[in-house]
Amino acid sequence: METLPQEKLREVQLLKLKRILNWAYNNSPFYREKFDRNGVRPEDIQGLDDLKKIPLTEKKEWLAAQGERLVEFSSVLAVSESEIVRYHQTSGTTGTAMRLGFSHRDWNWWLECWGYGLAACNLGSSDRVLVCFPFNLFVGWWGGQDAARLLRCRVYPGGGMSTRERLQIIRDHEITALMGSPSYLLQLASQAEKELGWELRDLHVRKLICGAEPGGSIPSTRKRLETAWGAEVFDHLGASEVGPWGYECSAHPGGVHIIEGFFLMEFLDPETMQPAQPGQLSRLVVTSLEKYTQPVIRFDVKDLIRPSNRACPCGRTFRWVEGGILGRADDLLKIRGVLFSPQAVEDVVCSFEQLTDYRIIVSRRGPLDEVTLKAETNTQEGSTEGLIRDLESALRLKINLRLQIELCPPGTFPKQEIKTKRLIDLRKEGEADVVEENSRTSRSH
Ligand SMILES: [Zn+2]
Repeated sequence: METLPQEKLREVQLLKLKRILNWAYNNSPFYREKFDRNGVRPEDIQGLDDLKKIPLTEKKEWLAAQGERLVEFSSVLAVSESEIVRYHQTSGTTGTAMRLGFSHRDWNWWLECWGYGLAACNLGSSDRVLVCFPFNLFVGWWGGQDAARLLRCRVYPGGGMSTRERLQIIRDHEITALMGSPSYLLQLASQAEKELGWELRDLHVRKLICGAEPGGSIPSTRKRLETAWGAEVFDHLGASEVGPWGYECSAHPGGVHIIEGFFLMEFLDPETMQPAQPGQLSRLVVTSLEKYTQPVIRFDVKDLIRPSNRACPCGRTFRWVEGGILGRADDLLKIRGVLFSPQAVEDVVCSFEQLTDYRIIVSRRGPLDEVTLKAETNTQEGSTEGLIRDLESALRLKINLRLQIELCPPGTFPKQEIKTKRLIDLRKEGEADVVEENSRTSRSH
């Protein structure tokens, strides 16, 4: 499948699309009602271009379709409740948790998706894999662990362990591959080096499979991981609602392949919501072609990606996206006519070791929007001029927009356990309080 010519792939996708549309219409009350309300029937979709006749599906619609009783799923469900053999849910940090059910068939499909990814990093029977994951209701690495077993790896479930205990396993069991979030894999490295004085490159870890955060595709984070572990980094992409849809191959083209046999992706212009030009920053809309329990039809995952139109040297024909997930559509800002994703700023800031935290502040001066990057630095005064110059040119390259830069001392911004709000848009009401809050806390430091 991975090397089918693109035209053949489109044929496969169309066949599978017709099948899943019929399935959803006939079995999911949510989709039947949605299709009927919009006057669309599955048979109206005769080509991939017809897909646009179907309205997008939003996460909030799925949430609204969930009933009061937690034990039930929602009207999205297209199988009987008794067929569900696994329960997972999204973290619900931005509101109610989304309840996710898997039939036996869907879970096997989920593992097949993971199989593409793990096979692409050449994992096999000579590998001992430690999965650094708490094994809770977040679907996260459950699939990765099961798929590694199917590829005949020896799997070590690393749940319920301290970082120290995991390090012990890594050394004593000569672990060859790790799965985990990039920030956690960096934390493991830092503890091993600082507290135990270990030289990680002398251990056996040669592959890091990253996921759950964008770091695996951010060049600076990758470099730190590669250097610390002496290992090859593979990014892995997906979303709990739609499936694990992307993986990095060992040719490392600078991005992630889409499993096009299982996922039909649409790339939309974030402003007009019309099909984007190749290579343009795009909003991702996903149709999962083999997900039968809670069908995913034109799901607006709100991730921003940039599809590449170049072939990958590995020979796979599955298209790939450059640099992984580039941000969230909800965070996208338009400044002086230029669209930019705050995550791009984060990528640049993270590549400077002297910068420890930052905020992006958007304001309006007269008719013009201004963007200020306030960054905490641990550099001594006097040497900041060169830093500002380097930062300016790195930002100009990445986002094509001029930012005001202000450096401030460590401890200026409060440290929060929950997700920190780093983007402050003063053009919106109420956001000034955030700045006020930040400066108040900084004075108490
Ligand atoms: Zn490739």
